[in-house]
Amino acid sequence: MKTLIVGAGPGGMATAMRLAAAGYQVAIYEAADRVGGRMRGFELGDYAFDTGPTILQVPRVYEELFGACGLDAYDYIKLIRLEPNTRIAFWDGTHLDLTSNIPAFKEQLARFGPDLSAAFERWYIEHLRKDKVGYGPYLGTPVRPPLGYLKPDEVAAALPFRPWESLYDHFKRFFPDERLVYALAYQAKYLGMHPTACSSVFSLVTFLEFHYGIWHPEGGFRALARALARAAEDLGVDIHLRRPVRQVIVEEGRARGLLMADGERIAGDAVVINADFGHAVQTLLPAHARGPYTDRWLNRKEFSCSTFMLYLGVNRRWEHLPHHQLYLSEHIRRTDPLWAKSAVLDVDDPSFYVCNPTIVDPANAPEGHSTLFVLVPVPNLRYPVDWAAQARPYRDLILRQMAKLGFEDVERHIVVERHYTAETWRDEHQTYLGAVFNLIHSWQQLGPLRPHIRHRGARNLYWIGGAVHPGSGLMTILEAAKSAVHFIGEDLPAPRRASVTVGQ
Ligand SMILES: Cc1cc2nc3c(=O)[nH]c(=O)nc-3n(C[C@H](O)[C@H](O)[C@H](O)COP(=O)(O)OP(=O)(O)OC[C@H]3O[C@@H](n4cnc5c(N)ncnc54)[C@H](O)[C@@H]3O)c2cc1C
Repeated sequence: MKTLIVGAGPGGMATAMRLAAAGYQVAIYEAADRVGGRMRGFELGDYAFDTGPTILQVPRVYEELFGACGLDAYDYIKLIRLEPNTRIAFWDGTHLDLTSNIPAFKEQLARFGPDLSAAFERWYIEHLRKDKVGYGPYLGTPVRPPLGYLKPDEVAAALPFRPWESLYDHFKRFFPDERLVYALAYQAKYLGMHPTACSSVFSLVTFLEFHYGIWHPEGGFRALARALARAAEDLGVDIHLRRPVRQVIVEEGRARGLLMADGERIAGDAVVINADFGHAVQTLLPAHARGPYTDRWLNRKEFSCSTFMLYLGVNRRWEHLPHHQLYLSEHIRRTDPLWAKSAVLDVDDPSFYVCNPTIVDPANAPEGHSTLFVLVPVPNLRYPVDWAAQARPYRDLILRQMAKLGFEDVERHIVVERHYTAETWRDEHQTYLGAVFNLIHSWQQLGPLRPHIRHRGARNLYWIGGAVHPGSGLMTILEAAKSAVHFIGEDLPAPRRASVTVGQ
């Protein structure tokens, strides 16, 4: 049973690992010259950069992935726990360190207000229960039909958590201070949403970071990408780099293989598309096999923001500053629709995030130097910005903003630099609208209302990545890979369980 996977992003490689371990013959075809997709990274001179993810949540998900394939994750990756998890600097000059050291966190809260540490304790205990009720049945389970979510026992267990509330209202109920509300809800941005528009079910993500900490893979997320590839190859997967796919071959309603950009046809029993969903439905599927995913469908859907990125190689280190820092500008409190949707480029006081990885992972820069990764949420290409004109002034603005997180006078220290705009994500990472976090996670686009892993326009064709349930982060995509293998197994059972000799 031969399965062909388009793209060596994390989702493609995790699916490949699980399929190979289950006895399928698997080949991945990747357009780029290296694995990892949005986390493939790049080098500028002596400096090595992660491109996308910098926050690794819930190591258990990686342990389970490798474990399910008969491997030990820690033979492939070393994870470093960060302390604090993230420092949040507020518009008023104060800051808060989010940390899994709960007593230390409560002490900080006590400085923000008298009753807050008791409120946090109530919130935390509620989320120990929410994790049990929410993670397994919702995040960790293949998507069900809408009515399948109405199991009386699960509904009864979920109701006390008021899932209809917004994330903003949820946190406001516990913490009257808006600084805390926005600090604890900051993960909503990864879901492409403002906390006032995002369901409170996602407070679980905040909890998972508190409870399991935030981790950094030694060597960066580039090393994590290589680790997934090495594990896949150890399990027998063939990974072909620099092999762009032109189209999925669909005949008589079934996926039959791939037509490569160079004209070669490769036959397979099943095809899994890991390329970005919006990009792939428009370019990789023949018109007759797009199913419901017409251009009209795409136009009706809400996609996440994009990001403006600065990757800086600098001739100094900021040892005293944390690995992850986020500046929340007062504009985060604007809830008028264009601002809440990230449809406006903030040229005044944008919120932004800086990763300072060299302090825990010094190998990515020369001795005494470091790399900095700066991310600014910006409109996706549905709300056009003249990036040819804006990129340079925006870079200058962000360099000035960086002083708000303690990176003083950063421009003077730059040795190498690169920036990405929404157009770079579209053109170099084939990301529809440059919307790096994919379809947003609104009620209208959750669970069964996201594209299904089983393609609806042809048989034996599957999706893996941020567009499908449960969503667009690494943790959720790895959960989706489990579901993809479940569906492929139902449709095309593996002929036998593989007997794999790892390391050959
Ligand atoms: C700036 C940024 C910050 C992020 N931060 C975090 C974070 O901190 N934590 C977190 O968990 N997640 C984060 N994410 C999200 C995370 O990066 C994505 O969820 C993840 O990379 C998506 O993985 P994927 O498997 O969907 O594939 P992708 O990474 O989208 O990879 C798809 C692959 O398909 C290939 N491809 C496309 N077209 C073709 C073709 N025609 N032929 C062959 N190959 C093709 C591409 O080259 C690519 O390698 C971040 C993302 C970005 C962009």
